[in-house]
Amino acid sequence: MKYEISITKTAAPKPHPTDESKLGFGRIFTDHMFLMDYAADKGWYNGRIVPFGPIPVHPASTVLHYGAEIFEGLKAYRTVNNEIKLFRPLENIKRLNNSAERLCLPELDEEGCLDILKTLVELEKDWVPKSEGTSLYLRPFLFGNDPHLGVHAVKEAVFAVICSPVGAYYAEGINPVKIAIESEDVRAVRGGTGYAKCGGNYAASLRAGERAERKGYTQVLWLDGVERKYIEEVGAMNVMFKIDGKIITPALTGSVLPGITRKSSIEMLRDWGYEVEERLLSVDELFAAAEDGSLEEAWGTGTAAVVSPIGHLFYNGKEYTVSNNEIGELTQKLYDNLTGIQWGKIEDKYGWCEKVCNG
Ligand SMILES: *Cc1c(COP(=O)(O)O)cnc(C)c1O
Repeated sequence: MKYEISITKTAAPKPHPTDESKLGFGRIFTDHMFLMDYAADKGWYNGRIVPFGPIPVHPASTVLHYGAEIFEGLKAYRTVNNEIKLFRPLENIKRLNNSAERLCLPELDEEGCLDILKTLVELEKDWVPKSEGTSLYLRPFLFGNDPHLGVHAVKEAVFAVICSPVGAYYAEGINPVKIAIESEDVRAVRGGTGYAKCGGNYAASLRAGERAERKGYTQVLWLDGVERKYIEEVGAMNVMFKIDGKIITPALTGSVLPGITRKSSIEMLRDWGYEVEERLLSVDELFAAAEDGSLEEAWGTGTAAVVSPIGHLFYNGKEYTVSNNEIGELTQKLYDNLTGIQWGKIEDKYGWCEKVCNG
């Protein structure tokens, strides 16, 4: 099922960034955005591409008071053959619907949502940057917009998509990150919203992130919210460890975000013959491996950086160095193969890329 999409083009197109090495992440936005309204008695209606700009929100809107918001993040790539492609977009759409179900927000038709993403990207295709390592980041988001303060599942909502040309995540080559394991705050608990990609999870995580940054760490590694014993994930990335030749990654217990880069990495690693264990991994087991030398590599996975090597792990006054603070061999291979498929440099044998149009 496709949604109707009207298109109103901007009368004042913005100049495109000239220096693609200075794009950064999520600071520049394209000329247009997608908006669509929802009402319980009408379903989704008024799908429209309009000039990028502020969205009017009622002061009593549910999103402002009760945090009724979910989002997604995916990238459109300009391949070496100058085609514009999306990486596994249906996975993002399915996850958006799972998040919607958890927060009692209205779901979208999968095929209709894919059509929205493709229509917007095709219109903005000149904004997909050309330099190696760059892409057009898409941020679909959906929020409750009832104009009154009663607390209940929403009857009105907005679905929106904005696009941002983003730079190579590693401008100066891939540098391993320093990670602090958080022992006070928790991000999510089983039965909560950890598996949903919702703004509220991020609101609750900012304090620990600030604390870690002040101590010189880039990101926080979260432990489970009940026993504070098992590794869950890093900031906006899932996490994987190579211990004694095997890959271990926390199981999706409900409080971990089911990352698409995580899923793709697991599929690829298994295809290469690695044993991948999705299970509980305690911080004690991890540090025992770090001490006896069997922890060989550690990395995070997520759409923004794709693969991010971990060089240092800090917990309760102790710091461990992983693979001499250098990118590990398997981490590099995973990065090269995932980005190789995304940029069309190596064959997409898994069928992960979805063509939008010629560039
Ligand atoms: C988005 C996100 C990830 C990574 O998911 P990808 O689909 O790989 O981009 C991991 N953890 C959290 C908390 C996230 O929000």
